[in-house]
Amino acid sequence: MLTMHCISIPTPYPVGPVNAYLVKGEPLTLVDCGPDTPEGREALTAGLKEHGTGPEEIKRVVITHAHPDHSGLAQWIWQASGAEVYVHPYEYKKITGEQDFIKERLPFIVKMGIPMRVLIEMAGEKDILPRSTLSEVSIKPLTGGEKLNFQGGAIEMLHFPGHATGHICVYDQESGNLISGDFLLPHITPNPLLEADPEDPSRRYPSLSRYLEGLDFLEGMHIKRALPGHGEIIENPGEVINAAREHHHKRFGVVLDILEKGGKMSTYQISSAMYPDLQGFEIFLGLSEVQAHLDVLLERGSIKLEFSNGVVHYMKVN
Ligand SMILES: [Zn+2]
Ligand SMILES: [Zn+2]
Repeated sequence: MLTMHCISIPTPYPVGPVNAYLVKGEPLTLVDCGPDTPEGREALTAGLKEHGTGPEEIKRVVITHAHPDHSGLAQWIWQASGAEVYVHPYEYKKITGEQDFIKERLPFIVKMGIPMRVLIEMAGEKDILPRSTLSEVSIKPLTGGEKLNFQGGAIEMLHFPGHATGHICVYDQESGNLISGDFLLPHITPNPLLEADPEDPSRRYPSLSRYLEGLDFLEGMHIKRALPGHGEIIENPGEVINAAREHHHKRFGVVLDILEKGGKMSTYQISSAMYPDLQGFEIFLGLSEVQAHLDVLLERGSIKLEFSNGVVHYMKVN
């Protein structure tokens, strides 16, 4: 049976360390790799050494999604070993340096009724981590459904969007282990980040709808254990799936209550009511969270919208 070893790697993000997983088997495979910082390189090297190996022996790297805490060291490993690097095509732009994070989302953000000074504050804050780059690596595409074979086992790639459009989870049917990246986390739900739909960039991607569908699908899989991108191993995936669903159910209620009291409100107004103290990039995270819930409520017919003077306002349907 394939064994999966967790290597914890520090990140400067509030979420704390990120988990990389070494899948011990031939060819030696790493799922996620940590941020490209001196501390990240050191922790990954030390973790691999504990398992009798090093970056130069890694033959395959699977990236769950392009966020720099998960993907940063992929090019460094490739430089050390020539490893094959697997990523979902929806994540390519984020990882090859072609995409401007705020610019791509600006057409959606301006309709949220955000004051200019807040927009400037939000867009002006730089990520603490350098953007991952795989500019030199020829990336192998993963769209979900592929199997990566080992001597004596195989892992299956599953597409679970919601937190990122090209998020991949890695499943070992034999052991029932699922490397869940940021899709399933022990104590928090991932932000359903605002992104353009990769198939039609003029539209917002329905992040939360896809996420909730993913939770249902995951529940049907009867996974034994989830190995998350942050935090400890999840021994009770069913409970964590239910808690994530419950969390979003409550959030829908909070958004509806705010609209009940406020009447007609923009995404920014709802976000300011829900999260009054956000600063810098956190403002974007708050807007993402609120917009994702509004999109689902709209789909369900619980709210309606009105578009005037370039801003979308939402109202409760009674
Ligand atoms: Zn992430
Ligand atoms: Zn993460």
